[in-house]
Amino acid sequence: MQENSIQAVLRRSAFAIIIYLIISLPFIFFTVSYKSENDHMSFLAELNAGKISNYVIVNGALWEYHGFRLNELVKLNNVSDDLFTQSVYSAKDKLVFGTDEPLFWHEIEQLAPIYLYETKVGVLSVRSSFLPLLWDTAIVGVFASLISLFVHILIRRGPLRFINHTLSRLNQERIKKNLVLDDLRQAEKKLAKRSDQLIEAQIIGKIGDWTLKVGEDVFFLSPVTRNMLYLDESGIEPTIKNFRSRMSKQDGEQLTDAISQAIRTRETASIDVDFKSGDGTCIRLSINCTAIRDQYGNAKKLTGTIQDISDRRKAEKQLESLAYFDSLTGLANRAMFKREIVNIVSRMDKNKETSGAILLMDLDRFKEVNDTLGHTAGDQLLCKVAQRISDTLRGKYFCSRLGGDEFAVIIEDVDGSDITYVYAQKILDSLSKPFLIGETEVLIGTSIGIAAFPEDGKNSEALITHSDLALYRAKELGRGQYVRFTANMSEVAVRKMALARDLREATKHGKELEVWLQPQVDIKDNKIVGFEALMRWQHSKLGFVSPGEFIPIAESSSLICDIGSWILFESVRTAKQWIDSGQEPYEIAVNVSAAQIWQGNIEEEVANILEETGLPPHLLCLELTESLFVDHAEATVKDTLTRLKKLGVTLALDDFGTGYSSMGYLIQLPFDKLKVDRIFIENVHESEKMQHVLKGIIGLGKGLGMTIVAEGVEKVEELNLLKEFDCDLVQGYLFAKPAPSDTIVQTTKNSIEQLQDAA
Ligand code: C2E
Ligand code: CA
Ligand code: CA
Repeated sequence: MQENSIQAVLRRSAFAIIIYLIISLPFIFFTVSYKSENDHMSFLAELNAGKISNYVIVNGALWEYHGFRLNELVKLNNVSDDLFTQSVYSAKDKLVFGTDEPLFWHEIEQLAPIYLYETKVGVLSVRSSFLPLLWDTAIVGVFASLISLFVHILIRRGPLRFINHTLSRLNQERIKKNLVLDDLRQAEKKLAKRSDQLIEAQIIGKIGDWTLKVGEDVFFLSPVTRNMLYLDESGIEPTIKNFRSRMSKQDGEQLTDAISQAIRTRETASIDVDFKSGDGTCIRLSINCTAIRDQYGNAKKLTGTIQDISDRRKAEKQLESLAYFDSLTGLANRAMFKREIVNIVSRMDKNKETSGAILLMDLDRFKEVNDTLGHTAGDQLLCKVAQRISDTLRGKYFCSRLGGDEFAVIIEDVDGSDITYVYAQKILDSLSKPFLIGETEVLIGTSIGIAAFPEDGKNSEALITHSDLALYRAKELGRGQYVRFTANMSEVAVRKMALARDLREATKHGKELEVWLQPQVDIKDNKIVGFEALMRWQHSKLGFVSPGEFIPIAESSSLICDIGSWILFESVRTAKQWIDSGQEPYEIAVNVSAAQIWQGNIEEEVANILEETGLPPHLLCLELTESLFVDHAEATVKDTLTRLKKLGVTLALDDFGTGYSSMGYLIQLPFDKLKVDRIFIENVHESEKMQHVLKGIIGLGKGLGMTIVAEGVEKVEELNLLKEFDCDLVQGYLFAKPAPSDTIVQTTKNSIEQLQDAA
């Protein structure tokens, strides 16, 4: 039963007792008093009726008239009042004495006959009011209530409280007990679940456990372990000897070593071994082994886990191949290359004999193939390059693709460093032979930077940076070469690399770069014909960086194309703004790098810019140099130039006389202008020989119908000679140095005026 119900019952019982006392005590009193009153009255009536009977015998029939005497005899009316009275009646019901008035409130009556010998001659009536009895009963009631109250208080304070206390204590104990029981039950459930889960996890994770008593040979294996190793099916007894026989000699030794190590050292020994399981397959197991000791520290038994890690190892290998191999060519990737170098460095630290070299390669003209033939062709080419490099190395040395068209080879443990150069040359030769991509024959090549170890670097960063610097130099010197790192390379190259990085940022954000203009003046009437757009870079930290420095840097990467597009657009926009603002229409000449032509979409770009800005095409001149034809099929270049011409723009051959200066180009290609390089102008008045040359060049150009522009005219003497040789246009500091577009027109006009005044 619950605590509350017991207490309620007790409380109710106490209440019932009290009610019982309150009702029953007055009731009992009333009943008993009523009976005794009746008895008393009956006794009194009998007694007095007897006395009267005796009087009747003595006085005969006259008794009926002796009311007063009778009254004295029985002293009846002494006590007669509103509450008690005695009356005597004759046989004929005549009141002999007393009263027949009713008493106050209710009454009790006892009658007793009066006899004359045997004959009833009258009756005595004794009557009593209920009121005194009720009054006494009420008093008893009040007492009973008081007693009940007292009893109630007693019970409440005493037993009920005690019972309550005991009960709640019992209850608490019961709750505690229940809780403990609940906990136990839940723990039991959890335990059961856990052990199920553990077994499940063991099955899923292919992990089982084992024990081995020290000194014994047979393992005790859990069912999961037995299943995992297919022992039951094959009936193999799990002894150390049997296990060893299913491993390689080395792994078997590892097993016994691990067991003895666990016994000796209190440490957990862990080994990974290959194991031929009961079904004949080879699985990779990871075994843990720890000793359980008695109170004296002696190993009693060994216990541990066995896990089948074949899947994990497979996944690890796959991950490793993803992380360390280039998916396109199958060669090692940059991460692997770095790891290899770190390994070499640590070998170098241990063994002073370790030597070799890193060959860092960057394919020449790869971007062009990629852009013209598409990425699939580019990928094919990369695979073929990888194959050729591997073939050249005959699998003897480490070879990796670092990303894009960058490859790296590590030649290690060579007797003399000459071998490095032999391999470098072999790679250059093999990559300079044509590749057949689909139906197209492709000619590329490579530049190689070499850093030898330990001479060119004692740590991996130095080796990588130095090979990079050497590569940079190789590309600068002209493609298709290998260059070994030298100490003086660092400074220059580091600056160049930093500039390349900053220039990329500057181009991306369009900040720091500006277009300045230099006028081209008609030699005959001293009028401005147009301007050449020249790039200016105001570096935030280094200040002004000359185009002579940063343009070659940009040209050694694809950056030149981005810069080229930018300046093309800016220049054309400026030229159009001049027209819109009511100025005379000036031609704008923009330098276009060979890479922009090779890239293959220059016509589209020029057409778009002209359309977008609305500049008449004949006001745009593209300046190209002879480097355009180096290593490039003349036909392709000619094609592009012809298409450009069709757009209506003019083409100028820049820096004429400094490059190949092949007559063939001049005759076949659609150039409108010939820009004679500054080296033919500079102090030409001082050398008769140079005057002949200059005259010859101008004559040649004019003979081919080209407009001749003389570059770098600084002196009036030079100008005068150019006039004499019938040159068309002049450009040089004599008229104006390059300046921003908002000042250049006025500056030029001023200096023309000054020149005329002087003349
Ligand atoms: P360039 O195309 O031959 O440009 C003419 C260069 O000669 C300019 O040098 C110009 O400032 C300089 N120059 C002009 N008159 C004189 C003179 O009287 N005396 C001397 N000593 N120099 C004179 P800058 O601006 O330093 O440009 C150098 C080269 O950088 C340019 O040679 C051009 O090949 C290249 N370059 C400049 N801007 C661009 C560009 O936007 N795109 C490309 N691809 N190349 C550019
Ligand atoms: Ca130029
Ligand atoms: Ca030039």
